[in-house]
Parts: sequence; C-alpha cells; structure tokens
Amino acid sequence: MIITVTSFKGGVGKTTIAVHLAGVLQKKGKTLLIDGDPNRSSLEWSKEGKLPFIVIDEKQAPKYIRDGSFKFILIDTQVRPDEGDLKDLADGCDLLIVPTTTDSLSLKATLKMLSALKTLKAENYKILLSAIPPPPSKEGQEALSEIKANNLPIFETMITRYTAFKKSAMQGNLVKDVKDDHAQDSWKAIENICKEILNK
Ligand code: ADP
Repeated sequence: MIITVTSFKGGVGKTTIAVHLAGVLQKKGKTLLIDGDPNRSSLEWSKEGKLPFIVIDEKQAPKYIRDGSFKFILIDTQVRPDEGDLKDLADGCDLLIVPTTTDSLSLKATLKMLSALKTLKAENYKILLSAIPPPPSKEGQEALSEIKANNLPIFETMITRYTAFKKSAMQGNLVKDVKDDHAQDSWKAIENICKEILNK
C-alpha cells in the first residue's frame, strides 16, 4: 500500500504524521518512508537511528521499491502542490493524506483545493486535522463538522497539538517513546488513524 502525505502549507505536521504513521504500520508489515520534501525533515528525524523503519531520500526510491518487500510505502512530499500536482500525487498512490490545521486561512485553502480535486474525480484522498488546539477548545470538532458539511472525506481521528510531538522530533524517536503526559494518547491517535486507513 502506498500512502502519500502532502499539504498546502508548511508547518502543519506533515512530516510528523508521515513518520508516525510509518511507525504504526511497521508493526503490521515492513514499511519504507520516502522523503520527498526538499527540507529532508524525515531523513533528519531518522538520523538518531531510533526509528523502527527505513527512511530514504526519494532519489534512492527506485532501488528500494524494486526490491518489492515493503508492505507499506509512505511518501512525505513537498508542500503547496497545485491542482495538477495533486491529481498526479493522488494517481500515484493508494491514499493521499492531506493534513491541515484549523487555522482559518489554511483550512479555507485546503477546502478550496480539495473541492477542485473532487471535481477532477480524484477519490482516494482524505483530510487529516493536525495540531488542533487541545481540549477544552472545540476548534477541531467544529472544523470536522465544516469539512463533513462540504462532503469532503476526512479522518474522524484528529491530531492534537501537544508538546509530546515536538519532543519526539527533537529526540528523533516516536511519540510513544518520549516522557510526556500526552505521549500515550498522542500515539493512540496515530494508531486510530491507521485503523481508519486499514479498515476502509
Ligand atoms: P510540516 O512537515 O508540515 O512542515 P512538521 O511535521 O515538520 O510539519 O512540524 C512542524 C513543527 O510543528 C515541528 O516543530 C513539529 O515538531 C511541530 N508539530 C507537528 N505536529 C505537531 C503536533 N501535533 N503537536 C505539537 N507540535 C507539532
């Protein structure tokens, strides 16, 4: 299964999501994370050698893919794809995950672009609300309702903005392995997103 993660804006948690999804999926089968973001953040994350899956530069992808032994391939792509890029990205994978924050500008841009994709009849994409303000804020739920009202596909599970994720990026590990009050619920959210992916 090939899963691509892309976003309309930098800093919305795209790399954090790609790394963590790969971490959960690795438990279900051999997983490869391809870093196609010019910032090479996933590769940077993996430098500590603590991630339980292989991370490679996109230029190495043909060699690794040819080997055919990966059950899951995650691709962390560039930001700001235009409509044409998006269609190509969607065509090249089984599932295109589009993270967005609840920040109104980012959300509006995402909704607009994805409505266009819908018109182009791309159907294998799904929005993921990322770095949403923690409870008691209702921002995440409100955004979820708005996106559903637009008839766009979206994960029921949202990723909350918790320092635990920042710590995992700094330590080069997964959020389940950091010391933080929200480490385990953050990891659970990623597991639930994987369930949504695999049970679809
Ligand atoms: P992108 O790939 O979209 O640029 P990153 O995953 O690199 O985003 O995240 C950008 C910054 O936000 C990093 O410092 C990262 O640790 C932080 N971050 C990402 N997701 C979360 C989250 N859910 N909670 C808190 N911080 C987050």
